[in-house]
Order: sequence, then structure tokens, then C-alpha cells
Amino acid sequence: MKKFILCLITLMLSAPVCMADELRLDKEIPYQKKIMAVGFRILNANNIDKRMTFYYCNDKDVKAKTYSISKKICIYKGLIPFIDSDDELAAVISHEIAHGMDLHEGLLRRIAMNLRPVKYEKKANQTAVDLMVNAGYNPLALIIILNKINAEPGFATSRSNGTKKLAVIYEYIYNKYPAYLVYNDYKENLYYQNFLLTSKHERAQIRQKYLKNNITPED
Ligand SMILES: [Zn+2]
Repeated sequence: MKKFILCLITLMLSAPVCMADELRLDKEIPYQKKIMAVGFRILNANNIDKRMTFYYCNDKDVKAKTYSISKKICIYKGLIPFIDSDDELAAVISHEIAHGMDLHEGLLRRIAMNLRPVKYEKKANQTAVDLMVNAGYNPLALIIILNKINAEPGFATSRSNGTKKLAVIYEYIYNKYPAYLVYNDYKENLYYQNFLLTSKHERAQIRQKYLKNNITPED
């Protein structure tokens, strides 16, 4: 009884805190629902028959992560303020699904991923572009979100050259899905414009390389 009264007093004293916690959870439910809806849309549109699950994870880090054993894909709370559209969320999730597909290949692939992280990051970005296009998302959003966080999701402290990394994605889109550049929905986007500004040199080289393709991108 004494314990019960003590609990009651504690509850009464901490009630405003409890209510605040509940309200915060209510606010976060839409994020979980959105992440699941986008994640399963990408899996279904790409006929990916591997099992993966999607979670909004309560951590302030600016990152996303795919767990190697559970194939659980986490979009961390700290990344949410950087995501401005469904396309950008799809970009982050597609990148993680690409890692998930590799992780499903088994132990040897997992070892290879650990030994050659740069190679598998590049691969995840290219696969992400394919997954996004097949699911009806604009793949340029991958460049935009990576430009904003200036790192790969999960590699926030990477020392590799960000511009080159983004230019590799641009080149993949330029070569495989040029329509997104010929009619560019993102040419007025603040963060895309910054990518254009910082990648002039790299893009000039790409245009030269694919001159024979006769593509006239808006940018
Ligand atoms: Zn990655």
C-alpha cells in the first residue's frame, strides 16, 4: 500500500512530463507510417522478395542504417529535419535497401562489404537510382539529400570527396536515365543548384565523355 501511494504521488508529480512524452509519440507515428509506406512501395515496385523491415529510430544521429543480421532498416530521428520530400526519403531508403540486398547475399558478401566500403557505397547509390526510378521517384533527389548531409547515410564522418561521389551518381543518371536531366524538375531546387555550382568541373568532364549520346540536359 505504501508503495502504491508512493507511485501515485510520483505519477501526480510527473504527470506533465508523461503527457509531453505521449504527445511526442503521437507526433512521431506519422514518420513511422511514412517510412514504412515508402519502403514497401520500393520493395514491391522492384519485385524484391527479400524480407526487410523499416523503422523510425529514436536517435539524434544524422544517419540511416541497415542491420546486417535482422535486415532492419533504421531512419534515425536526426536525419528527419534534412528530408524535404518523398523523393528524398525514397532516396535514403533505396540506398539502405540496396545494402540490405547485398547483406542478404550471405556472410562472404558481408565480409566483402566491410573490406571495400567505398565500392559498396558506390554500388548502393547506383542501385538506389534504379530502385527509385522503378518505384516512380525522381533519382536526382539522391544527389540533393546527400549534398545536404554532405556524406553517405551512415558514413557521416567519411573523408572521401563529396563532390566526386555526387558526380558519380549524376553520371549514372546522365547515362542511364537522361530524361530526368532533359526535363529537370529540380533545376530550381536550392540544394541541387548548390550541387551544380560545386560540380562544374566534374559535369563538364561527364558531358565530354558522353558527347556521342547527344543528350542536351537542362543541367
Ligand atoms: Zn551506405
